[in-house]
Amino acid sequence: MSWVVEKKNGIFLPEINWHLDARKPASNVFISHAHFDHFGNHPSVLCSEGTARLLRARMPGKRKWKTYGFQEPFEISPSVKGVLYPAGHIPGSSMLLLEKKGERLLYTGDFKLGPNLTAEACVVPKTDTLIIETTYGVPKYAFPPISEVKKEILQFCHETIDDDHVPVLFGYSLGKAQEALKCLEGSGLKILLHPQVLKMTQACEEIGFTFPAYSEFRYEKAKECVVISPPLPKTSKWLTGISNHRTAMLSGWALDSYRHHSKGSDRAFPLSDHADFLDLLEFVARVDPKIVYTTHGFAQEFAQALRDRGINALELGAQNQLGLELQINPPPKSNPPTSEFESHTNVSPHSILSFTTAKENAVKAESHTRKVEIVSEYFANLGPTDVAIAALFLSGHAFTRASQRSLNITTKTNRQAILFAANANETEYKRVRQHEADPWAALLSLLNPNPQIGQTLENFRVLFDTLEKSPNPVFQHSLLSEAYRKLNPREGKSLSELVLSKQGNAIEESVIEEGLAKRFEAPIEAVRRANLRCADLNRVANATIDRMLDYIPLQLFFPLKLERPAKGDMDFEFLSQFQSPIWVEALHDGLRCQIHKVDDRVELFDTEGKRITHRFPEIAESARLIPQDYIADGTLVAWKKEQPLPYSELEMRLKRPVEDLFIGEDVDTLLWLFDLFWCNGDTLLDLPLNRRRRELDTFSVNLRLRISPVQKVDSTDKLPSLLRDSQNRGNGGLIIKDATKRYDPLSLKPSWYSLK
Ligand SMILES: [Zn+2]
Repeated sequence: MSWVVEKKNGIFLPEINWHLDARKPASNVFISHAHFDHFGNHPSVLCSEGTARLLRARMPGKRKWKTYGFQEPFEISPSVKGVLYPAGHIPGSSMLLLEKKGERLLYTGDFKLGPNLTAEACVVPKTDTLIIETTYGVPKYAFPPISEVKKEILQFCHETIDDDHVPVLFGYSLGKAQEALKCLEGSGLKILLHPQVLKMTQACEEIGFTFPAYSEFRYEKAKECVVISPPLPKTSKWLTGISNHRTAMLSGWALDSYRHHSKGSDRAFPLSDHADFLDLLEFVARVDPKIVYTTHGFAQEFAQALRDRGINALELGAQNQLGLELQINPPPKSNPPTSEFESHTNVSPHSILSFTTAKENAVKAESHTRKVEIVSEYFANLGPTDVAIAALFLSGHAFTRASQRSLNITTKTNRQAILFAANANETEYKRVRQHEADPWAALLSLLNPNPQIGQTLENFRVLFDTLEKSPNPVFQHSLLSEAYRKLNPREGKSLSELVLSKQGNAIEESVIEEGLAKRFEAPIEAVRRANLRCADLNRVANATIDRMLDYIPLQLFFPLKLERPAKGDMDFEFLSQFQSPIWVEALHDGLRCQIHKVDDRVELFDTEGKRITHRFPEIAESARLIPQDYIADGTLVAWKKEQPLPYSELEMRLKRPVEDLFIGEDVDTLLWLFDLFWCNGDTLLDLPLNRRRRELDTFSVNLRLRISPVQKVDSTDKLPSLLRDSQNRGNGGLIIKDATKRYDPLSLKPSWYSLK
């Protein structure tokens, strides 16, 4: 019996319950290589040793790894054996050969048969069932020899530099960028790498690849150097910062002239890390399979080409196209309209009308997935600047959270501006109100249904900036009514919601984050954590486009979202997923307090992110005594004679009027520090708790700022007595932590529990 192969969350082998290159989390998964389009957030992964090293560099987070060297046999179950073969696509890329009851199956993943400058050379085994990647599966894709392409790339670099311009080579940060680097070997050219490329190049060096000398990109160094960068839009801020640059895309798609024009690079060279049409045919001949399943790119065309040559071949997934699957799925999408020529309507994508339509559709959509798709498709039609503005406005805010700016426009001013723009009075409003239950809908329905001039995202951005600078209601009224005059009722609703910061129709930030990740092929975790660190969707959008997400630091003097303990039961069942030893700290009966200190400036925030510095000046004063700059987490308690006092004592302090000069004198306080988020310029959130804590333990603390002691226990037996002791000392109970976890307040799996 040959293997059963299904197209489902990547590729699925139902007989052994394994997935190949699954995108959604799955339990038994083989990952062929470290490109993001082949990877999801899986709890455990089977892959080559090289791929595991690269994935660890790209995707933080804990998971189990089953790694093997090339051609080293292993078992995935007693009846199924496996071997990995190098695929020649990028460093570490591998093909998987499985065998059950003497029947072999080979899955290629992305592969390249011919020579490749930076991947282990492809080795071809024989098999019965072949699943082959066919990105370039039509005859027009015949790549010239690599030596010729290399010559052309070098010529482009030299000519550009002679012309006083900076050559920028575009290639994906893992694989193509290192090929580009290798092409420059021996040329004597000075090479600068985009930080993302630098990071992946260093990761490749760690697994044994060598490259010509390079350094990290700096604007001031760019003259007379070659820059290697991930593909960026023409208008990317990072790119436009390099004066007099010329870009060249390195991609197999360079053989399609229209593709690189639409991508916006000045030149394109056909440097590919995939097999071309003739290589695909040769590969199949050498593998000598009984049946071939084709996948990716020209899968249907290549299956036909094989059948024309007498080989049994099917496009993967085509076998069940008459089944249920096709009826459930939405019709296949045509290629997204990336160039201006393909736009079908005359509504400009950066208009408020398009924004409103996208937002309405996303609000109406029932599933999270569909919302993400709508947002990502909307982003696909916008330039980078507008993506950044739209990402922010979709969240229902006129300004980023981190900026702590707000418009301070009253409902009354906004309402009057709408009436004024509509040339309407209260009588007219009352008339429409009889037929419209919602007062805002009634008001907005008075606006001109077909205004001649529209408004754009950029118009709104400028409007909000101006409004913020002029808190005078008369001026606000005139600016606002001017804007409403150019909007129809639906668009007016968008403006009204942003002006009043109404969150009712806003899109959740998690949807916007995923929309960005999907549109720009960035890892969702990186987008999510960047937004957690900076609370600035505008900045996150720019960094997603520029592939600089990992470089966004923690926002100083802005409260970080806090991880909260879940409630633990006394049966300790929750501890089953914890790594040993478990960490036990006192649950202090007090106020959770986040402290930010840089030089002489100190701010304290409570659990809700409210600033409470002025209420605890003595804590702020003690915080200044610690020499490091830091952001730390702790609990504020009322304290007397080395004993904690009940929370009610602290509440008295919180209730006193702000202008009270003797605020520090009624009850004494103490801040127990237990976590460190940032220290002297380094963001520590991605480190496990024990590493963050090690850093915190180096602080020389004082009487008012102390470090909450930790007890490490190996078994749960001791917990009941520890709990009793802690409560006897006047604490609320215990906090139990997994010390191997990074800081993740958004995680669904808590790594802290409270015991009371
Ligand atoms: Zn790939």
